[in-house]
Amino acid sequence: MKEGRQNRITTIRMMTSNAYLVANGKRAILIDAGMKKKEKKFLAALEQMQLSPQDIQLIILTHTHYDHAGSIKALQEITKAKILVHKAEASCLAQGHCAFPKGTMWFPKIMSAIGRALNKWVGRYAPVAPDIAIAKRFDLRPFGIDGYILPTPGHTAGSLSVVIEDNHAIVGDTLFNVFKHSVYPPYANDREGLLKSWKKLLEIRCEYFYPGHGKPFARERLQKTYVEKKR
Ligand SMILES: [Zn+2]
Ligand SMILES: [Zn+2]
Repeated sequence: MKEGRQNRITTIRMMTSNAYLVANGKRAILIDAGMKKKEKKFLAALEQMQLSPQDIQLIILTHTHYDHAGSIKALQEITKAKILVHKAEASCLAQGHCAFPKGTMWFPKIMSAIGRALNKWVGRYAPVAPDIAIAKRFDLRPFGIDGYILPTPGHTAGSLSVVIEDNHAIVGDTLFNVFKHSVYPPYANDREGLLKSWKKLLEIRCEYFYPGHGKPFARERLQKTYVEKKR
Protein backbone atom coordinates (compact mmCIF):
# COMPACT_ATOMS: atom_id res chain seq x y z
CA MET A 1 0.00 0.00 0.00
CA LYS A 2 0.97 3.63 -0.41
CA GLU A 3 3.82 4.76 1.86
CA GLY A 4 3.86 7.98 3.80
CA ARG A 5 0.30 7.84 5.04
CA GLN A 6 -0.18 9.33 8.48
CA ASN A 7 -3.01 7.02 9.38
CA ARG A 8 -1.77 3.45 9.69
CA ILE A 9 -4.26 0.71 8.80
CA THR A 10 -3.67 -2.70 10.40
CA THR A 11 -5.72 -5.83 9.75
CA ILE A 12 -6.70 -7.96 12.76
CA ARG A 13 -7.88 -11.44 11.80
CA MET A 14 -10.81 -12.28 14.10
CA MET A 15 -11.40 -15.87 12.91
CA THR A 16 -13.45 -15.75 9.70
CA SER A 17 -13.74 -11.96 9.54
CA ASN A 18 -11.32 -9.00 9.63
CA ALA A 19 -11.30 -6.09 12.03
CA TYR A 20 -9.14 -3.03 11.27
CA LEU A 21 -7.20 -0.69 13.50
CA VAL A 22 -6.54 2.79 12.18
CA ALA A 23 -3.98 4.78 14.15
CA ASN A 24 -2.56 8.27 13.85
CA GLY A 25 0.24 8.40 16.42
CA LYS A 26 -1.36 7.42 19.73
CA ARG A 27 -4.92 8.12 18.64
CA ALA A 28 -6.71 5.15 17.17
CA ILE A 29 -10.07 3.78 16.13
CA LEU A 30 -11.20 0.19 15.71
CA ILE A 31 -13.46 -0.94 12.90
CA ASP A 32 -15.49 -4.07 13.67
CA ALA A 33 -15.28 -6.51 16.57
CA GLY A 34 -14.98 -9.97 15.00
CA MET A 35 -16.55 -13.20 16.23
CA LYS A 36 -17.30 -13.90 19.90
CA LYS A 37 -14.38 -14.27 22.33
CA LYS A 38 -11.78 -12.73 20.01
CA GLU A 39 -10.60 -9.95 22.34
CA LYS A 40 -7.18 -11.62 22.72
CA LYS A 41 -6.51 -11.15 18.99
CA PHE A 42 -7.34 -7.48 19.39
CA LEU A 43 -5.03 -7.09 22.41
CA ALA A 44 -2.17 -8.81 20.56
CA ALA A 45 -2.59 -6.41 17.61
CA LEU A 46 -2.57 -3.42 19.96
CA GLU A 47 0.62 -4.60 21.57
CA GLN A 48 2.28 -4.98 18.20
CA MET A 49 1.33 -1.43 17.34
CA GLN A 50 2.56 -0.22 20.76
CA LEU A 51 -0.86 1.09 21.63
CA SER A 52 -2.84 0.64 24.83
CA PRO A 53 -6.60 -0.10 24.98
CA GLN A 54 -7.26 3.46 26.19
CA ASP A 55 -5.79 4.83 22.93
CA ILE A 56 -8.89 3.55 21.12
CA GLN A 57 -11.23 6.52 20.87
CA LEU A 58 -14.03 4.93 18.92
CA ILE A 59 -15.27 1.52 17.76
CA ILE A 60 -17.22 1.59 14.49
CA LEU A 61 -19.32 -1.38 13.43
CA THR A 62 -19.62 -1.67 9.64
CA HIS A 63 -22.81 -3.63 10.43
CA THR A 64 -24.20 -5.79 13.22
CA HIS A 65 -23.83 -9.39 11.97
CA TYR A 66 -22.42 -11.74 14.61
CA ASP A 67 -19.10 -12.16 12.78
CA HIS A 68 -18.45 -8.38 13.03
CA ALA A 69 -20.04 -7.52 16.37
CA GLY A 70 -19.37 -10.77 18.30
CA SER A 71 -16.77 -9.37 20.73
CA ILE A 72 -18.15 -5.83 20.93
CA LYS A 73 -19.17 -6.01 24.60
CA ALA A 74 -15.76 -7.31 25.71
CA LEU A 75 -13.97 -4.69 23.59
CA GLN A 76 -16.15 -1.92 25.01
CA GLU A 77 -15.20 -3.02 28.53
CA ILE A 78 -11.48 -3.23 27.70
CA THR A 79 -11.21 0.10 25.84
CA LYS A 80 -14.07 2.23 27.26
CA ALA A 81 -14.34 3.59 23.71
CA LYS A 82 -17.54 5.01 22.25
CA ILE A 83 -19.49 2.60 20.04
CA LEU A 84 -20.82 3.83 16.70
CA VAL A 85 -23.35 2.12 14.46
CA HIS A 86 -25.82 3.13 11.75
CA LYS A 87 -29.24 4.15 13.10
CA ALA A 88 -30.90 1.37 11.07
CA GLU A 89 -29.03 -1.27 13.11
CA ALA A 90 -28.89 0.35 16.55
CA SER A 91 -31.69 -1.92 17.78
CA CYS A 92 -29.90 -5.04 16.43
CA LEU A 93 -26.83 -4.13 18.46
CA ALA A 94 -28.94 -3.42 21.54
CA GLN A 95 -30.46 -6.90 21.16
CA GLY A 96 -27.22 -8.65 20.23
CA HIS A 97 -28.78 -10.11 17.14
CA CYS A 98 -29.17 -9.21 13.47
CA ALA A 99 -31.26 -11.19 10.96
CA PHE A 100 -29.30 -13.41 8.59
CA PRO A 101 -29.03 -11.73 5.15
CA LYS A 102 -30.47 -13.00 1.87
CA GLY A 103 -28.26 -15.11 -0.40
CA THR A 104 -27.22 -13.63 -3.76
CA MET A 105 -26.23 -16.94 -5.43
CA TRP A 106 -27.71 -20.44 -5.28
CA PHE A 107 -25.38 -21.87 -2.63
CA PRO A 108 -25.57 -18.88 -0.27
CA LYS A 109 -29.34 -18.92 -0.83
CA ILE A 110 -29.48 -22.42 0.68
CA MET A 111 -27.01 -21.39 3.38
CA SER A 112 -29.11 -18.32 4.10
CA ALA A 113 -32.23 -20.45 4.61
CA ILE A 114 -30.31 -22.69 7.04
CA GLY A 115 -28.66 -19.62 8.59
CA ARG A 116 -32.01 -17.96 9.22
CA ALA A 117 -33.20 -21.05 11.05
CA LEU A 118 -30.01 -21.39 13.13
CA ASN A 119 -29.32 -17.71 13.60
CA LYS A 120 -31.63 -17.51 16.60
CA TRP A 121 -28.96 -19.45 18.50
CA VAL A 122 -25.58 -19.11 16.83
CA GLY A 123 -26.02 -15.54 15.63
CA ARG A 124 -26.34 -14.09 19.13
CA TYR A 125 -23.73 -12.01 20.94
CA ALA A 126 -23.55 -9.92 24.11
CA PRO A 127 -25.57 -6.76 23.34
CA VAL A 128 -24.35 -3.18 23.66
CA ALA A 129 -26.23 0.12 23.66
CA PRO A 130 -24.52 2.27 20.99
CA ASP A 131 -23.21 5.71 22.02
CA ILE A 132 -23.50 7.18 18.52
CA ALA A 133 -26.05 6.21 15.86
CA ILE A 134 -25.56 7.91 12.50
CA ALA A 135 -27.63 8.18 9.33
CA LYS A 136 -25.30 10.23 7.12
CA ARG A 137 -21.63 11.04 6.54
CA PHE A 138 -19.69 11.37 9.81
CA ASP A 139 -16.35 13.18 10.23
CA LEU A 140 -13.57 11.30 12.06
CA ARG A 141 -11.21 14.26 12.52
CA PRO A 142 -12.47 14.96 16.07
CA PHE A 143 -11.14 11.46 16.88
CA GLY A 144 -7.71 12.27 15.48
CA ILE A 145 -8.18 10.35 12.23
CA ASP A 146 -8.10 11.92 8.76
CA GLY A 147 -11.23 10.29 7.41
CA TYR A 148 -14.98 9.93 7.50
CA ILE A 149 -17.74 7.33 7.63
CA LEU A 150 -20.04 6.87 4.66
CA PRO A 151 -23.31 4.90 4.70
CA THR A 152 -23.06 2.16 2.04
CA PRO A 153 -26.32 0.17 2.40
CA GLY A 154 -26.99 -3.07 0.52
CA HIS A 155 -25.44 -5.99 2.39
CA THR A 156 -27.56 -4.70 5.29
CA ALA A 157 -29.61 -1.51 5.65
CA GLY A 158 -27.09 0.02 8.04
CA SER A 159 -23.83 -1.01 6.34
CA LEU A 160 -21.08 1.60 6.73
CA SER A 161 -17.72 2.20 5.05
CA VAL A 162 -14.83 4.12 6.60
CA VAL A 163 -12.83 6.26 4.18
CA ILE A 164 -9.28 7.10 5.28
CA GLU A 165 -7.29 9.95 3.68
CA ASP A 166 -9.78 10.05 0.81
CA ASN A 167 -8.54 6.92 -0.92
CA HIS A 168 -8.56 3.90 1.42
CA ALA A 169 -11.97 2.41 2.26
CA ILE A 170 -12.70 -0.13 4.99
CA VAL A 171 -15.97 -1.58 3.78
CA GLY A 172 -17.18 -4.51 5.94
CA ASP A 173 -19.27 -6.93 3.86
CA THR A 174 -20.09 -4.37 1.15
CA LEU A 175 -17.23 -6.09 -0.70
CA PHE A 176 -16.06 -9.70 -0.30
CA ASN A 177 -12.59 -10.75 -1.42
CA VAL A 178 -12.91 -14.52 -1.10
CA PHE A 179 -13.82 -15.53 -4.67
CA LYS A 180 -11.38 -15.53 -7.55
CA HIS A 181 -13.39 -13.68 -10.16
CA SER A 182 -15.61 -11.35 -8.18
CA VAL A 183 -15.85 -9.16 -5.08
CA TYR A 184 -19.64 -9.49 -4.94
CA PRO A 185 -20.84 -10.55 -1.45
CA PRO A 186 -22.62 -13.91 -1.24
CA TYR A 187 -25.25 -12.30 1.00
CA ALA A 188 -27.09 -8.99 0.52
CA ASN A 189 -30.52 -7.80 1.55
CA ASP A 190 -30.79 -5.12 -1.17
CA ARG A 191 -28.83 -5.94 -4.31
CA GLU A 192 -29.75 -2.75 -6.15
CA GLY A 193 -28.80 -0.66 -3.14
CA LEU A 194 -25.51 -2.53 -2.95
CA LEU A 195 -24.56 -1.55 -6.50
CA LYS A 196 -25.49 2.08 -5.76
CA SER A 197 -23.12 1.96 -2.79
CA TRP A 198 -20.37 0.52 -5.00
CA LYS A 199 -20.93 3.40 -7.43
CA LYS A 200 -20.53 5.84 -4.55
CA LEU A 201 -17.21 4.24 -3.53
CA LEU A 202 -15.94 4.38 -7.12
CA GLU A 203 -17.06 7.99 -7.57
CA ILE A 204 -15.19 9.25 -4.52
CA ARG A 205 -12.05 7.82 -6.15
CA CYS A 206 -11.10 5.26 -3.49
CA GLU A 207 -7.99 3.35 -4.56
CA TYR A 208 -7.76 0.56 -1.97
CA PHE A 209 -10.44 -1.51 -0.30
CA TYR A 210 -10.27 -3.44 2.97
CA PRO A 211 -13.07 -6.02 3.10
CA GLY A 212 -14.65 -7.80 6.06
CA HIS A 213 -13.57 -11.12 4.52
CA GLY A 214 -10.40 -11.66 2.48
CA LYS A 215 -7.39 -9.48 1.71
CA PRO A 216 -7.26 -5.79 0.73
CA PHE A 217 -7.38 -5.13 -3.00
CA ALA A 218 -7.09 -2.30 -5.51
CA ARG A 219 -9.82 -0.33 -7.26
CA GLU A 220 -9.56 -2.20 -10.61
CA ARG A 221 -10.98 -5.34 -9.05
CA LEU A 222 -14.10 -3.52 -7.83
CA GLN A 223 -14.45 -1.70 -11.16
CA LYS A 224 -14.37 -5.02 -13.03
CA THR A 225 -17.07 -6.71 -10.90
CA TYR A 226 -19.19 -3.53 -11.01
CA VAL A 227 -19.19 -3.48 -14.82
CA GLU A 228 -20.10 -7.20 -14.94
CA LYS A 229 -22.99 -6.79 -12.46
CA LYS A 230 -24.38 -3.72 -14.27
CA ARG A 231 -24.65 -5.61 -17.58
ZN1 LIG B 1 -22.38 -9.42 7.13
ZN1 LIG C 1 -19.24 -10.91 7.51
